[in-house]
Amino acid sequence: MLATAEALATLLGAARPIDGTESIPTLEALNRVLSADVTSPLDVPPMNTSAMDGYAIRAADLAREGASRLPVSQRIPAGHAPTPLQPGTAARIFTGATVPPGADAVVMQEQTEAAGDQVTILHTPQAGEWITAQGADIRSGSVILPAGTRLSPQALGLAASVGCAQLEVRRRVKVAVFFTGDELTMPGEPLEPGAIYNSNRFTLRGLLAKLGCEITDYGIVADKLDATRATLREAAEAHDLILTCGGVSVGEEDHVKPAVEAEGRLSMWQIAMKPGKPLAFGAVRRAASRASAGASAPASAETFFIGLPGNPVSSFATFLLFVRPFVLSLAGARTVAPRALSLRADFTQSKADRRNEFLRARINETGGLDLFPNQSSAVLTSTVWGDGLIDNPPNHAISAGESVRFIPFSELLN
Ligand code: AMP
Ligand code: MG
Repeated sequence: MLATAEALATLLGAARPIDGTESIPTLEALNRVLSADVTSPLDVPPMNTSAMDGYAIRAADLAREGASRLPVSQRIPAGHAPTPLQPGTAARIFTGATVPPGADAVVMQEQTEAAGDQVTILHTPQAGEWITAQGADIRSGSVILPAGTRLSPQALGLAASVGCAQLEVRRRVKVAVFFTGDELTMPGEPLEPGAIYNSNRFTLRGLLAKLGCEITDYGIVADKLDATRATLREAAEAHDLILTCGGVSVGEEDHVKPAVEAEGRLSMWQIAMKPGKPLAFGAVRRAASRASAGASAPASAETFFIGLPGNPVSSFATFLLFVRPFVLSLAGARTVAPRALSLRADFTQSKADRRNEFLRARINETGGLDLFPNQSSAVLTSTVWGDGLIDNPPNHAISAGESVRFIPFSELLN
């Protein structure tokens, strides 16, 4: 059996960012991946600004100690250009307004007393007090968002703060997905004896959508070799990745393996993890290269293939741990690994498993972890109840109080 880390390293070693970029409006770029650095064309803030409502003054004009009374020589609301501060005067100023040339501090209005066109300054400010210096956040010419950044709402805000109306992003990763299993029925249809609902279609479609993929869903493909091969051939043409679910065990009803072998190449991995275990990784030839039939067809003549196990928790977990980083690598993302936390186990699991377990757990009110009582790979309830997965190494029993590696769903589902 293959260790989880080894399987992931092999997958990521094969992934290359897809070709194709586009320029899109910043307002529509949420969750897309930058294909080029964003460099700021300006300083932010673009001028010295006041961080308070108050009075801009020149410190040298104030008495060394005690109060100073100064005439108010101008009023500067935000968005209005000031004139230079006349020596021996104060300028009424508001938050976000430009500090006038010649002023070196702002005194907040709570430390002043205004009377007519005069103001009494009751405080001796430090140089630069309540002034946000030009460029304090961003310097003109600096890279504010490197290529490979997945654009969060705050990253879009940052790009907008330097005036970027368009962003260069990689095109979306195109994923074809289908499901195998003659027992599968869609919700809305009657459940015949022996049938179950195709829950994985909903989970996997949602997971792919969260990654910003362009999805083609071929639905349920009959457990037949010909049907599986035909779908693979069609899916290979216009996609970067074909993802299937079910049928990758070695039972005689499992036709995905021989179908991919006939249409491309396949490695079957028995990964030492629980839930999960079987994972298929390979590629399906595209028609053009099939015609020229080169044994060493270039990577671009193929579409990647990943076959997930059918058990609902297994397909969920293997997607999060393997497909997610693989798709993010295709998308050109810089960061594909989730960040894990070290949290206290508030339970004991005395039986060690020889496989790497990914246990569904929830953060309790004291910041420790509770375990879902049924960790079966068929029990989807655990994935909704939980906040994430405990990554428990092989052959390791867990004692209450010890620290465990916890990967929150918030890291895995973004
Ligand atoms: P398989 O990997 O095809 O051997 O399937 C393993 C188990 O997962 C079987 O109990 C299947 O009925 C179940 N299963 C397979 N595909 C799905 C699906 N799309 N939704 C829900 N359960 C599934
Ligand atoms: Mg099956």
